[in-house]
Amino acid sequence: MARHLITSAIPYINGIKHLGNLVGSQLPADLFARYLRGRGHEVMYICATDEHGTPAELAAAKAGKDVADYCAEMHDVQAEIARGFRLSFDHFGRSSSAQNRALTQHFARVLAENGLIREVTEKQMYSVADGRFLPDRYIEGTCPNCGYESARGDQCDNCTKQLDPVDLINPHSVISGSTELEMRETKHLFLRQSAMKDKLSEWIDSKADWPVLTTSIAKKWLNDGDGLQDRGITRDLSWGVPAQFDGAPWQGMEGKVFYVWFDAPIEYIAATQEWADKTGGDWARWWRTDKGAEDVTYTQFMGKDNVPFHTLSFPATILGSDEPWKLVDYIKSFNYLNYDGGQFSTSRGRGVFMDQALEILPSDYWRWWLLSHAPESADSEFTWENFQTSVNKDLADVLGNFVSRITKFTRSKFGEALPEGGTWGEREEALIVELTTRVREYERHMDDKEVRKAATELRAIWVAGNEYLQSAAPWTVFKTEPEQAAAQARLALNLIRLYAVLSAPFIPDATDTMLAAMQTEDRSWPTDVRAALEALPAGHAFTTPEVLFRKITDEEREDWQVRFAGKRE
Ligand SMILES: [Zn+2]
Repeated sequence: MARHLITSAIPYINGIKHLGNLVGSQLPADLFARYLRGRGHEVMYICATDEHGTPAELAAAKAGKDVADYCAEMHDVQAEIARGFRLSFDHFGRSSSAQNRALTQHFARVLAENGLIREVTEKQMYSVADGRFLPDRYIEGTCPNCGYESARGDQCDNCTKQLDPVDLINPHSVISGSTELEMRETKHLFLRQSAMKDKLSEWIDSKADWPVLTTSIAKKWLNDGDGLQDRGITRDLSWGVPAQFDGAPWQGMEGKVFYVWFDAPIEYIAATQEWADKTGGDWARWWRTDKGAEDVTYTQFMGKDNVPFHTLSFPATILGSDEPWKLVDYIKSFNYLNYDGGQFSTSRGRGVFMDQALEILPSDYWRWWLLSHAPESADSEFTWENFQTSVNKDLADVLGNFVSRITKFTRSKFGEALPEGGTWGEREEALIVELTTRVREYERHMDDKEVRKAATELRAIWVAGNEYLQSAAPWTVFKTEPEQAAAQARLALNLIRLYAVLSAPFIPDATDTMLAAMQTEDRSWPTDVRAALEALPAGHAFTTPEVLFRKITDEEREDWQVRFAGKRE
């Protein structure tokens, strides 16, 4: 038994995520966590909401709510949707927790003591009416490029030109509308990533087994242009981890907080502390190599846009601390999932969002499609035709049909218990050989975190059972050799349990349904396929389940196509 720490990129608090976000981090992390637990390993799977920063403040203001209340509410909303998708976090934390505040301040202090933080004085827009410095997104004005009147301080949404707040014509505060703005000097803390470049480079180079997508992004940031730049880690905001605190080795940072990208990854550790505080567990044996974490394997899952922060910024924090924290062992990154000929768009409501998906179909349907089409080697695309085909063929025709056929046949000829008699012949021996090979391949792909390949192999394992049933034809055999038909039915009913166990990482609800139908709680992994096909003995009672997966009709597909084309706002 090994120990595995798994984290998925933490979703930002503002709003409900779409299916592309889900398949790029949380869902494959859940797949891996469920697989490792199924193999008997000890797993700690951590996720959280990323709650600090300007967008949270703005969203709360728009909703007319206090930002802390807003985050608490949205955390509950995201947690509920995560439960709906059966994401099996050991803990779903919050980056605004007391634990994260303390740990973020600890890292900042240690980094400063190690000479890795420098103070930088720069000029920034100050609003006299609001009595505060304004982040770029808090300033709006007319775009000097296209004349759009609501261009933001960092970018014009109309012509996409990157802007500086000083470029805007008639700039004003988003908070108060005041135009009484002036440039004032302000101080910020910078993490000296440039001083860490060689150490980070050496560490990345040692990861020969990482996906190219991960290492190529890391190396680009390390080496392109002037190389890795120092990064501002504070902002003029009130919502966040205060940058001035007791024991801070700097002064004059009152009213500033740490930048959200500094504190968010630290929340992986802090969320494990939250878990420990809640359960009485020991967080340090997962994170401190001097306290038991030296034998932990740590895997992170994320979309490609998050790779720079996880290969460079967060490791710079960890390595720069010179403390024995656990570093990531493997980063699995994903490309983007596109939606029906374009991109998902939160602002235009284009594509399917997590809450909407669960309103129209149970989570297994989505889990299966998303994972079996995960954007691993390239971007992939969701289309309703493909979704319909995949659900109807893989889930309904192959797996669902197998379960339905053999349970109904056995019930009608032998009653609802595994029938007695008969022996296995060549056909059964051939099936055992094929399944053994395929199960080993499936394990290999899962160990390698090759999500699509694992899905393909699992489907092939389902197909093998259907083909066996088709060629063995117990309904015909029964007429002349009922004992032989009994042996075939017994094997096929045991296959349902085997399918339930193997399929659990992908479609956990169907697994529960199959195990309940077979009236067993035996989730033991089929290390020995032959033994697994004899696990349920003759005389063991079962029930015939309701339809495992229903088909998606053409009419539904067309309705959904129109409904999710984009008009949410
Ligand atoms: Zn413009």
